[in-house]
Amino acid sequence: MKSQAEKPVVLSVVIPCYNEEEVLPETVKQLRTLLDSLVFDRLIATESHLCLVDDGSRDRTWTIIQAYANESLQVRGLKLASNRGHQNALLAGLENADGDILVSIDSDLQDDITVIRTMIMEYYEGHEIVYGVRKKRTTDSFFKRFTAEGYYYLLGKMGVNIVFNHADYRLMSRRTIEALRQYEEVNLFLRGIIPTIGFSTTEVYYDRSERFAGESKYPLKKMLALAVDGITSFSAVPLRFIAGLGLVIFIFSMLISAWALGVRLFTDNAIPGWASSVLPMYVLGGIQILSLGVIGEYVSKVYMETKRRPRYFIEQSVGKSGLDVRMDEKMKEQAPL
Ligand code: UDP
Ligand code: MG
Repeated sequence: MKSQAEKPVVLSVVIPCYNEEEVLPETVKQLRTLLDSLVFDRLIATESHLCLVDDGSRDRTWTIIQAYANESLQVRGLKLASNRGHQNALLAGLENADGDILVSIDSDLQDDITVIRTMIMEYYEGHEIVYGVRKKRTTDSFFKRFTAEGYYYLLGKMGVNIVFNHADYRLMSRRTIEALRQYEEVNLFLRGIIPTIGFSTTEVYYDRSERFAGESKYPLKKMLALAVDGITSFSAVPLRFIAGLGLVIFIFSMLISAWALGVRLFTDNAIPGWASSVLPMYVLGGIQILSLGVIGEYVSKVYMETKRRPRYFIEQSVGKSGLDVRMDEKMKEQAPL
């Protein structure tokens, strides 16, 4: 167990924000209150802070972040040069925040922030990654709940090691962040990558509530893209499935051909049937196109990965970086009186 009383750790709370002007003031307020109480209880150091990542918002999100950062050392901000999506924004925050422990959370207050305290306790108990897991999804629509849970189940079946009902609300230690840095993939599905890092992990449970304000920034289209990334960047099962399907169909068509040949050669009723010639055409055509689609999906992943394009650019940053604070303190110590 790490000793907590001697020197509390610096916590960075990483929050990706895309057009979140409506909810941001409340989020910042609630999280700062939480930081204060954690500092008061000596669970975290006073340099602990929020790291708000503006994912190329088109509203006043960045202006708001700047205003908070100028007013308080507790708030820092990063502005990405364009909208790169939730996963990349999150990665930018994780790679650039300099706390000893990092907690990532959405900006809409859907995840119960009081759980952060439990996460930190688990960290002091020796766990390096603490997953926030939703207990029930009563606030999600039936559609979202059904598709999300079905999807997690499917991923598990395909051999992708994910934590059931865990989104991107988690605590990570400095060591695990350094490990994450070594994953260079462009098709980011952090929920799938992080469990492969290993180290000592645990889960904490919470109830998910409604979005505090504003609308979901995850329309069905983005959700589907993330879902496909999740499968194709972790599992070759669909490709193997196609190979299996191909084999079965091949055997089947051999049998049909043998039968047709038999009818033609040994009987008199060899009237070419419409159904038996058209049906296989449809079936095979459908399966072929489907299979090509799945293969194409993997090929496109390979294509994207080989380009090794940068995943994000930081356009601006505000707020005093932890490094600067520590340097200032060092200078003070060294300065002759
Ligand atoms: N988000 C982002 N970039 C995007 C879309 C979303 O940074 O392109 C952020 C968003 O601001 C929020 C988080 O990702 O903090 C989750 O989005 P949201 O709450 O809209 O998704 P939902 O909870 O509806 O799935
Ligand atoms: Mg949300």
